[in-house]
Amino acid sequence: LRERKLIVHIIPFENRRQILVTHDATESERIEHMRRDFIANASHELRTPLTVINGFLEIAQAQPNLDPQTRQSHLALMAEQGRRMQNLVEDMLSLTRLESLDYPLRPEPVRMKSLLGQVLQDAQALSSGRHTITLEAEGPDITGSVEELRSAFGNLVSNAVRYTPDGGTIEMIWRPGTDGPQFAVRDNGIGIRPEHIARLTERFYRVDKSRSRETRGTGLGLAIVKHVLLRHGAQLGIESVPERGSTFTVTFPARAVITEPATLQAKTA
Ligand code: ADP
Repeated sequence: LRERKLIVHIIPFENRRQILVTHDATESERIEHMRRDFIANASHELRTPLTVINGFLEIAQAQPNLDPQTRQSHLALMAEQGRRMQNLVEDMLSLTRLESLDYPLRPEPVRMKSLLGQVLQDAQALSSGRHTITLEAEGPDITGSVEELRSAFGNLVSNAVRYTPDGGTIEMIWRPGTDGPQFAVRDNGIGIRPEHIARLTERFYRVDKSRSRETRGTGLGLAIVKHVLLRHGAQLGIESVPERGSTFTVTFPARAVITEPATLQAKTA
């Protein structure tokens, strides 16, 4: 149990009696703490690629006659760091938007076969043939945000690719489920030790920072997944065995299922 911080105000009352008013400051302090952490982490994450880019720019200025091969490799490294900053800023913006009350969920019909087909294509592009990736899509269509679900499923599947060594297998499964439709991503990759599991959806929480960065991770993927699922009333389950692999399961509420043949034109992302 976390320690709670109660602020007690003593207010004088009639007949020499007093009123005690207690105010729980734990929650507001926790939020303030999280905000400060987020800014500190984000600044740190942006500073590293900026330092690399500035370093190479200085070299380019000081040595204008660098041989073409070295120049080319410096440019490639700078471009890589630029991409890293762009991914990070984009993830930070989507997280902020997902949390904002100004962007309420706009439910629309989600054609799951088509959506998952696109997620599969993106995963295959990321893997470039290094993994076997399969899709089984027997579940129903649902209502939700096509764009948000594509991003959430995409994050889960790209994690499976990024944390599974070459030659591994990734299965994407969409089933009707018993309590509501379920999307599962199963990999036979590096797995996660049990003590990390509860913290994985925290912003910038990573089991292994260097592996996450090497594979272009921003550390915000699962935080985005968590927020998208929250907006859809869906639950995330994580099962993992170190060195064996992980299964991330999303369970939607039964009410999300489209039962009537939809008359609306489906948006397919
Ligand atoms: P990142 O950009 O670092 O991948 P995420 O928020 O997507 O950030 O994931 C947080 C951390 O959870 C990762 O750094 C990694 O340590 C762990 N993780 C996520 N998915 C998997 C997976 N399929 N297998 C093993 N570890 C995973």
